[in-house]
Formats: sequence, C-alpha cells, structure tokens
Amino acid sequence: MTAPHVISAVHIPHARVRVKTTAWPTGGSRCGRVDPGDTVYRSEPDAGEAMSEPTDDPPQADQAPGGLLRARDIIAQGRVVVLAGAGLLRCAGIQPPEAPGGLWDRHDPLRCAVPAALDQTPRDAWRAFGEYLSEARRASRRIGGPSAAHRALWSLERRGLLRGVMSLSTAGLVRASGVEQVAEFFGAIDRLRCRDCRVKLDAPDDAERRWLAGEPPRCHACGGRLRPDMVLFEEAMPRVPRARGAQWAYGARTLLILGANVRKPPMRNIPLEVRQEGGHVVALGDVDAAMLKRVRGLWIKGDLNDTLPSLIAEL
Ligand SMILES: [Zn+2]
Repeated sequence: MTAPHVISAVHIPHARVRVKTTAWPTGGSRCGRVDPGDTVYRSEPDAGEAMSEPTDDPPQADQAPGGLLRARDIIAQGRVVVLAGAGLLRCAGIQPPEAPGGLWDRHDPLRCAVPAALDQTPRDAWRAFGEYLSEARRASRRIGGPSAAHRALWSLERRGLLRGVMSLSTAGLVRASGVEQVAEFFGAIDRLRCRDCRVKLDAPDDAERRWLAGEPPRCHACGGRLRPDMVLFEEAMPRVPRARGAQWAYGARTLLILGANVRKPPMRNIPLEVRQEGGHVVALGDVDAAMLKRVRGLWIKGDLNDTLPSLIAEL
C-alpha cells in the first residue's frame, strides 16, 4: 500500500444505523454494525491532515523558557490528566501505524487491520501484529523506559500530581513505562482477548516469534480464536477506557495534551469540558492550534523528549 492513511471518526448520535466505508484506497468497501453513540473508525486516503503542522498559532502560544515556567506553575497544582497521542509514541522511535511509514503503510490494512482479515487472511494479519508487538516490546525494554518523555510521565505520577493518562496509542508504552493509571482508548497490541469466551490476557513471551511466523494464537481457556485487544478499522472505540478518562477529566485542574490530535470526537470535547469546569489546558509538541486557541490553552512547542522532562524536573 502506498497511499498514506489517517483514521477518521464518524460519530453516530442517532438510532441504530449501518455505516459503509467507501474510501478504501484499493476501491473496496466494508460494512459494520454500530450502536447509537459509538464512534466508528475507518480508513480513508489522507489529505495530509495527520502530519500537517498547525498553521493558526494561538495568541497564548509560548516558547520555553517563559512558557515552561508558566506551565510548571500550573502543573505543580496537581490533578493533572494527560491526553497522549502520536507525538508521544514518536518519542520512543515508533511511527503511529496509520501514519506514513507506519505499520499500515507496510502492510495492507484490508488483509491485516479489518475484523474480516482475522478469518480471511490470518497469516498476513498476525505477521503484521507480530511486527508491531516487536517494535513496541523493543521500546518498552529499553533501560530507563521507552523514552525520556515516558519517564517524565512516570515521574509525574510518582509525585502524586497525575490523575491518569488517556492514551490514544495502541503500542502500550505508557503502561509499559510503569504509569499505573492508564486508559488505552483504542486498546493495545500486547493484550489479547478471546473471540469465543471473551477472556483477556497478556501476549505471552513467545508471541513475537509465533506471530511473525503467521501463527494465529489459541485461547488457553477454551481453545478458541484470540485477537489483539485493540480497535481495528471499522470497529467502535470501547466504552470502558473512555468512561475512565471522562472521570479523570471531570474536575481536573489541568489537561496536559502530549502530541495528540484532538480534532475528532470524542477527544475533541475533552479540552472544552476541562476548560468549562475551570481547568487549564497545556499542550506540548505538535497539536491542533485552532483547538488550543478556542480553549485559551498554553502551547509549548519543541521535542517532547526535551520539553516534558524539563517541565517535570523542577516540580
Ligand atoms: Zn477462549
């Protein structure tokens, strides 16, 4: 596959409907059932949105060191909830799967990243999952954590300033870095669930080798078919992590956005809700400048591996 991809969300507020995705780069289409209120993710050709730089600088945008000092004062007050996206994953040297050069640029999503692929082309799908798990485990086994930014998040929690991290990545690296309060909105590649008995488990130690060989794993409890416990294209975002994130965000003193795209629902509403409840919004790295302007947020540009440790260091 050569066309770059971006995940786009379609919010379904009304009665039970049938969603048809028609924008597959190969010309195919797929259908899926969704419930009212679900957010459905589909693949479509990227117009450059996912990687584009924000063009509309908010007036509150600030550069270190002045911005860092202001952000440090805000974060020192505690009750921080973090929304972490692709920018944090890149800190660990991993391209997000849907970005150019990412996993779904190297493997055909129609053969690997849609629910039907689990039955129709399982060897292709599990090889791709194995490659992603291998990338994620390499990063998580790094001495000192996946990256300096991940280590700084862990430190923020240890100091009692963090309510929790809403992670938009499926690599599982925030959890792997030792942060305890993590809500993975799209699941994670290192977790499995049984399609037959619904049991959930961690990917075993030999998973990389077996998956890379195209070997679909079987459930230890019922012998049934396992699948990664993460959202594939055409699937709805699970409700439990979203609800957990909403609990943290309600009454948070600060929303700290780390390289996360919040242009799509339900993430789009989180900064507004925190702001309406009287909280602050601080954004680090590449984020949506227009959103930040709306919520009068503080923006600190630059490499998250530099800015986040600097922010945390002197708290
Ligand atoms: Zn089972």
